[in-house]
Amino acid sequence: MLTIGCHLSSAKGYLRMAKDATSIDANTFQFFTRNPRGGRAKTIDPADVAAFHAFAAERGISRILAHAPYTLNPASAKPQTCEFALQVLAEDLERMEATPHQLYNMHPGSHVGQGVEVGVEKVAAALNEVLRPGQTTTLLLETMAGKGSEIGGRFEELAAIIDRLDADGRVGVCLDTCHVWDAGYDIAGDLDGVLAELDRVIGLDRLRAIHLNDSMNPCGARKDRHARIGEGCIGFDALSAVTNHPRLRDVPFYLETPQDDLSGYADEIARLRAARVEG
Ligand code: FE
Ligand code: FE
Ligand code: ZN
Repeated sequence: MLTIGCHLSSAKGYLRMAKDATSIDANTFQFFTRNPRGGRAKTIDPADVAAFHAFAAERGISRILAHAPYTLNPASAKPQTCEFALQVLAEDLERMEATPHQLYNMHPGSHVGQGVEVGVEKVAAALNEVLRPGQTTTLLLETMAGKGSEIGGRFEELAAIIDRLDADGRVGVCLDTCHVWDAGYDIAGDLDGVLAELDRVIGLDRLRAIHLNDSMNPCGARKDRHARIGEGCIGFDALSAVTNHPRLRDVPFYLETPQDDLSGYADEIARLRAARVEG
């Protein structure tokens, strides 16, 4: 059974997201823990969480993926920016325990001219501060397009961060198909080769989530402009091959394609489910 969902608004709480998900035949979903540009997180309502857990159990939603604000930069050269990232990450990880044993994804950050090595050290140091014993959440580092001074455009950069973490077992990666494509990994022409590389450098056992997006730009463009499934340079067949690949098919998939409303996601989910080869 394909585990697939999309990015949903968290404005109306967990139960509403689960209901939105089931309304489009999704059995998982992604959401921002707070305003994607940062800012204060809404207080978690215990009644909402309880209702969500009951509904999710009944409807077969066992996996959810929270996404950190994308403006966080624990690799920044500015101490206040690093401190803010630390505060948000620590608070988010604490909030994640309201829904134990789930996934929390973040963009590693940007080295802003300090160099990849300094950036990697800073991100790892920040994560070692916020990852605490007893946390049940798995923290995921997202593969990035390598735009500007983004860290994570190469698998080696994510591996270098993970290597420096104490909380080894609760750290994984989220592969974004648009990002790896833009970073120069040809998942349309050589998916097996890219996965062999991912396995060699990071380890496929670390792969816990996939952002399934088409790309508006050719492989290696380093642009990070998402396209709807089948309307970009990767194409429907290549993305459907990702959801059917024996090493990937059991990983949860999340659409982050540009849509006007939920019906666009519903359509993509229906087409991907129809192209799923079961058994
Ligand atoms: Fe992301
Ligand atoms: Fe993504
Ligand atoms: Zn992106």
